[in-house]
Amino acid sequence: MINVSKPFLPSIDEYEEYLKRIWKISHVTNQGPLVAELEKELTEYLQVPFLHFVSSGTMALEIAIKACDLGGEIITTAFSHISTANAILWANCQPVFVDINPTDFCIDPDKIERAITGKTSAILATHVFGNPCDVLKIDRIAKKHNLKVIYDAAHAFDVKINGQSIFNYGDVSAVSFHATKIFHTIEGGAVITGHADIAEKFRLISNFGLENGDPKILGINGKNCEFHAAMGLCTLHRVPGFIKKRKLLTETYNEQLSVLNLQYPQRPHNIDYNYAYFPVVFPSEELALSVFAALERNEVNARRYFYPSLNNLPFYKHYFCPISDDIAQRILCLPLYVDLTAKEVQFITEIILSTIASAKPQIA
Ligand SMILES: *Cc1c(COP(=O)(O)O)cnc(C)c1O
Repeated sequence: MINVSKPFLPSIDEYEEYLKRIWKISHVTNQGPLVAELEKELTEYLQVPFLHFVSSGTMALEIAIKACDLGGEIITTAFSHISTANAILWANCQPVFVDINPTDFCIDPDKIERAITGKTSAILATHVFGNPCDVLKIDRIAKKHNLKVIYDAAHAFDVKINGQSIFNYGDVSAVSFHATKIFHTIEGGAVITGHADIAEKFRLISNFGLENGDPKILGINGKNCEFHAAMGLCTLHRVPGFIKKRKLLTETYNEQLSVLNLQYPQRPHNIDYNYAYFPVVFPSEELALSVFAALERNEVNARRYFYPSLNNLPFYKHYFCPISDDIAQRILCLPLYVDLTAKEVQFITEIILSTIASAKPQIA
């Protein structure tokens, strides 16, 4: 069985060294020493001003919205994980879905401006597959209309734009450290900001809104714990190696699929990419589903990701986002993780090649 992703796990011995430290002082949660150590290491590794470790990427989005004190409408992308839209509604705001660029699958900034109303308080955009949004254009729009900018940066760990962390753009970046992401703490996430006042709110909001034990603002339990921090401390220094391996596997995929006329999200040249996913857009939904089924018959798990396009979900107001609809129907993410072998990539690409070869008369 080849899954679409597989978490990297350190040796049990390595993890146990941290467990011994936890057992020694019986401090398991509530801002213990390992959480503090992980926050410090992440801040240095990523070169960001303020970072707060929380229980998930979804919680990071929730806390980001609350810390920015948002209300009314939040402009967001139709092509993202459902968590992005849910976080908005959960915070009692209205998601206004905007369509994406057909080239990089990130929100189309030109369509953002047209969606702004008197009720708009922010833009919440996703760096899709680690590809940066047009951060400069979004920044200009936000300044002009006095809006906050939050990035769902769940896919973007260690991505750099012109040599500096992608997390330094926007007012807040929300990151996921879920087991399926490049850097993981089993479950977990972080909120990152350059504003000291917003960073202070991260700490309050994620700890029930308490300051020195007294209720100060509305809060929630967004804390993470020592066990999850330990996993992060075991793996952070390995991230550059993970990215190198993923790059190699990506190149292998690209080479073997180059005979086919498939579509891939385009990346700008001024970034250091993290090779978080291997997304492929097929010529039709029918073909994407045939490939998906053929892989499944061979015990290979691809993922329709993102699918469906969020503008069509029943509990949200419907918005017209034809590009996102189209990409969501035709896209598959293929398996990509550090333990995947070149041989397995070849096995996968051969299934794709033969499926498409036998479907050719159908699409001609
Ligand atoms: C994974 C993911 C999330 C959710 O993160 P969790 O840590 O699983 O809550 C949100 N947005 C995007 C784009 C993601 O990929």
